[in-house]
Amino acid sequence: MEVLKNKKIQNAEQIRSALTKWYNKNYRKLPWRASNNPYHIWVSEMMLQQTQVNTVIPYYQRFLKRFPDIQALAAADLQDVLKLWEGLGYYSRARNFHKAAQAVVSEHRGIVPDDREMFLALSGVGDYIAAAVLSIAFDRPLAVVDGNVKRVFARLFEIAAPVNISASYKIYKAVANDLLDADDPATFNQAVMELGALVCKPAKPDCAMCPLSKWCVSFKKNHTDRYPVKQKKAPIPHHHMSVGVLFKGDKVLIVRRPEEKMLGGLWEFPGGRLQAKESAEDACIRILKEKVNLNATIESKLTRIRHAYTHFKITADIFICTLISGRVRRNGPTDHCWVTLSTLERYPFPTSNHKFISKLMKDRM
Ligand code: SF4
Repeated sequence: MEVLKNKKIQNAEQIRSALTKWYNKNYRKLPWRASNNPYHIWVSEMMLQQTQVNTVIPYYQRFLKRFPDIQALAAADLQDVLKLWEGLGYYSRARNFHKAAQAVVSEHRGIVPDDREMFLALSGVGDYIAAAVLSIAFDRPLAVVDGNVKRVFARLFEIAAPVNISASYKIYKAVANDLLDADDPATFNQAVMELGALVCKPAKPDCAMCPLSKWCVSFKKNHTDRYPVKQKKAPIPHHHMSVGVLFKGDKVLIVRRPEEKMLGGLWEFPGGRLQAKESAEDACIRILKEKVNLNATIESKLTRIRHAYTHFKITADIFICTLISGRVRRNGPTDHCWVTLSTLERYPFPTSNHKFISKLMKDRM
């Protein structure tokens, strides 16, 4: 990190100025950039975490149409919030945002706090969200660090700290804080992220178009491909699952996932992992007995789906089953229900379930 000698970034002023000029000419006119409303900016930043801009745009527009202000979000039923978030993934973001909106209404008179400590105390607000929302909405001099920012700085200053481990965060944060334009943090933060998204791209940085190439160490040494450094991760486990679409007359059983768990608050068809040497059919019958206390028989196999989560992948065999006997035993009356296929669309489901719901509807309706 030769440019960071004595902990001071050389040419910081020129880098800031070049970056700002480039951003003002080249930024994408995204819907949230037309707004100074802190709630709108907060919605966009919650959605943009781990998610591509193009995916977020329609979700952002639908969300604001349905919940135009923080009071509307706070008053909403969590299930309606999850339904609008359906397909966007990382559902804890939606649950936390809903909780945070309720706290803003009950503790801050419906006004998004512009104080970092107060904002950080809200559910789902970490360092990134606090810096992004408060800098963009309130011009607070807080530097953001996300994947784009780390990639730009890793190449620009040849920072070898792996970008995919949490221990490196403070290294990139210190660089971002040093370089931040305290007079215009909103533009500076968005400019670094935009440069990472449009020019300093993950696979092939477009250095010929980059406003920072003059100061970029890895570009000058012709080894931008060595940065950012990533630590090798253990291979992602793969699980074989079995899922039962259990019919009682014209209704099917769906269960709600516990709120504190992954995909919490979403609905799903009961399912689980196969045990060693167990067939998918046997697993389906066992899982229905264990999870919902029902005896069932398999009528047919609906399909097989594959799905990748962040930390594991699944292959799931989906079976159409018929109820033989038993009463559902779950934790409470609101965590399961028997529904007709035509009403399934009212419930928020994870993407893995959507991968077979359309075939289920086509075959059975
Ligand atoms: S010159 Fe190339 S590697 Fe360096 S910051 Fe610009 S796009 Fe990234």
